[in-house]
Amino acid sequence: MNRIAAFIIATVFIAACSSTPPERKIIDDAAAALGGADRIRAVKTLTIEGSGSAPNAGQNRMPNDELPVWKVTEYSRAIDFPNGRTRVRQRREAQFLFAGATTQQQTQGLDGDTAYNVAPDGAMTRAGAAAARDRRLELLQHPITIMLAALNPDAKLTNARADGAVDRVDVTTAAGDMLTLAVDRSTRLPSQVTYMNDNTNMGDVAIVTSFADYQDASDLKLPRRLTTKMDKYLQFDLRVSKNAVDGDVGNLAASQNVREAPLPPTPPITVTAEPVAKGIWWLAGSGNHRSIVFEFDDHLVLYEAPLNEARSKAVIDKARTLSKKPLTTAIVSHHHFDHSGGLRVAVAEGLTIVTHRDNEAFFKDLLARPHTIEPDALQKNPRAADFQFVDDELTLKDKSMEVQLYHLLDNPREGTNLFAYVPRDRLLVQADLYDATWQQHPWGENVLANVEKRKLKVDRDVPVHGVIEPYAQMVKTIKAKAVTGTH
Ligand SMILES: [Zn+2]
Repeated sequence: MNRIAAFIIATVFIAACSSTPPERKIIDDAAAALGGADRIRAVKTLTIEGSGSAPNAGQNRMPNDELPVWKVTEYSRAIDFPNGRTRVRQRREAQFLFAGATTQQQTQGLDGDTAYNVAPDGAMTRAGAAAARDRRLELLQHPITIMLAALNPDAKLTNARADGAVDRVDVTTAAGDMLTLAVDRSTRLPSQVTYMNDNTNMGDVAIVTSFADYQDASDLKLPRRLTTKMDKYLQFDLRVSKNAVDGDVGNLAASQNVREAPLPPTPPITVTAEPVAKGIWWLAGSGNHRSIVFEFDDHLVLYEAPLNEARSKAVIDKARTLSKKPLTTAIVSHHHFDHSGGLRVAVAEGLTIVTHRDNEAFFKDLLARPHTIEPDALQKNPRAADFQFVDDELTLKDKSMEVQLYHLLDNPREGTNLFAYVPRDRLLVQADLYDATWQQHPWGENVLANVEKRKLKVDRDVPVHGVIEPYAQMVKTIKAKAVTGTH
């Protein structure tokens, strides 16, 4: 036996004899710091109450501006451990200009594998498989739940490593979810839970929840502050006012009807093409994100690639059936995530992207990000993007068509928005400027001022959201439901 082999055998022997693998030691120490593994396993219920803020990623005025924020005025999560149930109720108020309900109430539950929602009138409905998965992972973003998952004999603990002031260990739960737990090296208390997720716009993102301000509660240590980030964006900052252990949480079960209900089907994507004027089609169908196609001498131009790859690919495919001319260009109206969700597939399909200049860095970053968790078309077939940036205005014109693009100026909510005007047919083509179904039009007066400033003679509004309407009706609705000031 050579010396190296002897050394390896000796090392293996020592490792086998040393009491605990480093992964197990991180978990055991964290359990002890929280109050002990037995105490954690004995917890029957937990109620977490508080308030906080929930910023809205991908909805800011400019791509690098502060995010608009929902103020969460009431938050309550109840967990029933023996039955594997949880329910979250929250009430939130928009702290930004918003066209929908500015106060909203949500109740969402998970009973085993069954996710459910409760409407304000008490009606309970089953939520889909994606909601069940999201809620299962969300539930693990707490020291007690992640520790219970890690202490489960069916969990796998791997890859213990030191990282700055924390020790990290990867936890594969009995259900097969993979998360990373970080434990503070001085207090041994859990400081962070991380998992990787797919985001339509951003691709692979780390969802990181940090725990702070631990307090003593019923022989346990529980955090009073939980902060969740998606990549660089803050998603939820919860300040806990009350941690109650083993109190009465009531019945968190899904009703029998809901448990026996089939999973809600994914609504099919349909795209209709309604002629609006010569060589102009309004692509509607399922959902409330429409697109518009313009026919030029030798090519087609699409206004808006919305939502996600599935919607935008269906829209692109439909546009290509409208004429033998190739679709060459997609105008992306602005950077909000629901309006730029088709950016990557539009590039993958070889379309030139026309958008406001201030979207350049943001869009180039979105195009460069890895999408390995749920590979999209651009991940599978990488392709360089071809951009045409617009500063204040741009006219696309040949013998068949003229489309004028204008930057929406001085709008309090939309900083990078390009709207279109077709002089021949006096059409306004726009996204997020106006939707007849909105509850209020906080930036409606600004939209009317923009139309006036550009000296446009509009007959009809052809929107991304809502229905085609005479411009006179749009003006009337805005005047009737305009509100000013923030909430
Ligand atoms: Zn929108």
